[in-house]
Amino acid sequence: MDDLLRVDDKLTGDQKLIRDTVRSFVGDHVLPYVGDWFEEAVFPARELAPALGELGLLGMHLEGYGCAGTDATSYGVACRELEAGDSGLRSFVSVQGSLAMFPIWRYGSEEQKEQWLPLMASGSAIGCFGLTEPDHGSDPSSMRTSAKRDGTDWILNGSKMWITNGSIADVAVVWAQTDEGIRGFVVPTDTPGFSAPPIHKKMSLRASVTSSLYFDDVRLPGSAVLPEVVGLRGPLSCLSEARFGILWGVVGAARACLESAIAYSQTRVQFDRPIGGFQLTQEKLAWMYVGLAQSSLTAFHLGALKDAGELTPRQISFGKLSNVRAALDIARQARSILGGNGITLEYPVIRHMTNLESVLTYEGTEEIHTLVLGEALTGLSAYR
Ligand code: FAD
Repeated sequence: MDDLLRVDDKLTGDQKLIRDTVRSFVGDHVLPYVGDWFEEAVFPARELAPALGELGLLGMHLEGYGCAGTDATSYGVACRELEAGDSGLRSFVSVQGSLAMFPIWRYGSEEQKEQWLPLMASGSAIGCFGLTEPDHGSDPSSMRTSAKRDGTDWILNGSKMWITNGSIADVAVVWAQTDEGIRGFVVPTDTPGFSAPPIHKKMSLRASVTSSLYFDDVRLPGSAVLPEVVGLRGPLSCLSEARFGILWGVVGAARACLESAIAYSQTRVQFDRPIGGFQLTQEKLAWMYVGLAQSSLTAFHLGALKDAGELTPRQISFGKLSNVRAALDIARQARSILGGNGITLEYPVIRHMTNLESVLTYEGTEEIHTLVLGEALTGLSAYR
């Protein structure tokens, strides 16, 4: 597909190399198989993680401890190319790098960093991030999972829900109420009392592991707590990192849907002509491209702000809200252009479309990011 606005011309040589490397990895190692993974509801994490580590994609925008230390735009471009494969693949990389490694890197002790980050950067250890609970999603401040001191140890009790990578993780970053406020804990998943059963019957992000986490008197040493942060700003700062990857990633899913719809419209003949020759189809394709190009420009702009150290959570909310909505609209339009074929896994569109329903909800729902913008515009908070 022509990059009419030549948005990618803005990429540096290194960023183009990352784009092309990830795109070719996804083309060779993901696209031929991902329809089957989705159908069978599997994600071959143990095979993919070392390969992703080898490419430097795990914790790629972090410095030191075996991480690649790229700029933020490079991280965004990698997320875009991963999600052109599948949102489950990008979710794996986002959770590993932005939600599990970032809090250890940013708020962890030297011992925690040295123990976990090199293993996670190479893909030999997998991480997850436990914030959401069965009864507390959009409002994590009301979480019930708690950690109480017992001498120098901590005792963790409670549960988490909808945790990406939960059942396959070697380490979980778990957020819990304490007497001092919300704190983060680095929990090896083989600690007695920890369990992580998978959540089944998902119709979205099927090529991604989603789990519950249970903590039944999980005894942790004093050294398990993240020493450098207290309060909700800890998990929220991780979410900002991951949402940045999402607002880039969904551009890839949208692009894959538009490319599929254009190719289909050029070859599918009805009433003796390719359906792409009908004005109604062209109107859909034109608006899909407008949405895609606008999302791309938004991602580049926010990438530049992040690289300049100026990106704010409100700007990230803008990008997550507008780019996920645009991607979902594009996926739904593409689905209609493919007619009956649009509902099969022979084409990528229905897979992206159902995946994007999860992306619309996780990392702050569409409504919550709308309220963030509403508050920014009016100065009035409408959450409660
Ligand atoms: P709720 O908060 O109950 O919301 C239900 C509806 O009410 C939504 O439409 C919401 O927008 C609306 N609503 C809520 N409050 C308001 C309000 N004040 N005003 C208007 N509308 C409101 N969490 C993790 O911690 N780690 C993970 O790795 C993770 N991975 C996930 C993977 C998947 C596939 C999914 C689906 C979720 C994942 N999540 C994860 C959880 C995700 O972040 C939550 O689902 C999300 O925050 C919404 O919470 P909820 O599902 O409890 O919905």
